[in-house]
Amino acid sequence: MTPAEIVKKLFLLGEMYTVAQSLSDEAAEIVASDYGYQLQIVSPDEEEDLLAEEEVDDESQLTPRPPVITVMGHVDHGKTLLLDKIRQTDVVGQEHGGITQHIGAYQVHKNGRAITFIDTPGHEAFTQMRARGAQSTDIAVLVVAADDGVKPQTVEALSHAKAAEVPIVVAVNKIDKEGADPTRVRQQLTELEVVPEEWGGNYPFVDISAKQGTHIDDLLDVLLLVADIQDLKANEKAPPRGVVIEAHLDKGRGPVATVLVQRGTLRVGDIIVCGTAWARVRAMLDDDGKPLNEAGPGSPAQVLGFNAVPEAGDDFRSAPDERGARQIAQDRESRRRVADMVSRKTVTLEDLYEQTREGELTELNVILKADVQGSLEAVQDALEKMKMEEVAVRVIHRAVGAITENDVTLAVLKPVFVEDITGRAQVRATFKVPKIGTIAGCYMEEGKATRGQKVRLLRDGVVVSDTTVSSLRRFKDDVREVTSGYECGVGLDNFHDIKEGDVLEFYEVREVPRD
Ligand code: GDP
Repeated sequence: MTPAEIVKKLFLLGEMYTVAQSLSDEAAEIVASDYGYQLQIVSPDEEEDLLAEEEVDDESQLTPRPPVITVMGHVDHGKTLLLDKIRQTDVVGQEHGGITQHIGAYQVHKNGRAITFIDTPGHEAFTQMRARGAQSTDIAVLVVAADDGVKPQTVEALSHAKAAEVPIVVAVNKIDKEGADPTRVRQQLTELEVVPEEWGGNYPFVDISAKQGTHIDDLLDVLLLVADIQDLKANEKAPPRGVVIEAHLDKGRGPVATVLVQRGTLRVGDIIVCGTAWARVRAMLDDDGKPLNEAGPGSPAQVLGFNAVPEAGDDFRSAPDERGARQIAQDRESRRRVADMVSRKTVTLEDLYEQTREGELTELNVILKADVQGSLEAVQDALEKMKMEEVAVRVIHRAVGAITENDVTLAVLKPVFVEDITGRAQVRATFKVPKIGTIAGCYMEEGKATRGQKVRLLRDGVVVSDTTVSSLRRFKDDVREVTSGYECGVGLDNFHDIKEGDVLEFYEVREVPRD
């Protein structure tokens, strides 16, 4: 087929494409099937070339790794309390002296071995990840309250764990409570084909009280035993790879993601691609908020340095360089957009009416296009006279002429915010200046800094302040901009606790309209 024919075909299928646009796999499949062909995509994406790596590890390269545990069960059966209790039992963590941070996963130590817990309880997170093709868990702990027994979400959690073919350990909780009946829980689960080991089945059961801390140690021992049977190993020397457990945008630190390393070792300075986001790992923190230099297989780490917020369940892989990483992330983003476009169905007036009725829509953004100025005014006039209680009509743009792609963009999509790091400077000395405060004597290592721009102050990889550049000087002169290789004096807005060795990261936040 010629490209023009395919564009025409897509047009007839209700999709607007130009010859220069690339098709998503899905769109290509749809077009092919419309021509009566079944498409087999043999060369998936250019990205795979870039990320290509030897995936198969030689047995000799493998070393044991910590098991990764998810806690599931019915609401109120004690998942959260159990996760908290397990964490408190960790002596190593306490010696550490850090402050407990909920980053989505943590690690405890038992008999000198590490165990990783995903601490977003509930199978929602688990199912969501699995739906995205991510297998993050080695063992599922099914929590059942001894006084309440098997409940609908117990059964649901069980089905998810079974479907994922993850070994299950049953924690019969709340044995301290009056009315607790651990035997009944065993009977109920046996009916669901989860037969306890002591009854001749394959499932370890441990009676616990999360509240009183009873038998938590035993539970950890059982988890290590199950892990031994699985013989969990990974190549810690391989390029790092893993999955995002959770991610969010932090006001001070920018996009933050907790990742679980599954293979290789992730280090500060590594470049990774993660779904449609990428990062040069600026800093890593453990669940005590302490800086980490590296995280090996089976270990979680909170990662700073992403250009955008990745999604839970996204996998991450290492990329050769920043340019490659950015390219892959952008390619994926555009493919995702195309896929969205293909799957997005046409919105009819009926749909809009439904949405209004369900309270989803309160404001209808309208772009008016008409053949001549006269009709444009008439239509706008009519629209604005239409008074509706539930929905406000807002004409955001009007013009004469045909509908363009930009018009559509304007009407549907909210802009996204992207962060660009423009420069980095090392604080080499500090000076107190009367009436102004502390000035950082800096050396610009990379990029450039501009007066009035946003800046983050990092100490040991942790963001201590997020503010703006209030003054910028070269020798005695105020300057607008300083570029790499030069020394300069930097003053920060409302922040004076600057120390030698701190790092200043200059950045900009850009609003990008989505297309
Ligand atoms: P989740 O919804 O499964 O996370 O359940 P929570 O951990 O929030 O626990 C629900 C309630 O049960 C809370 O009030 C806990 O204090 C209580 N609880 C949890 N474990 C125990 C236990 O072993 N014994 C008793 N008596 N109460 C418990």
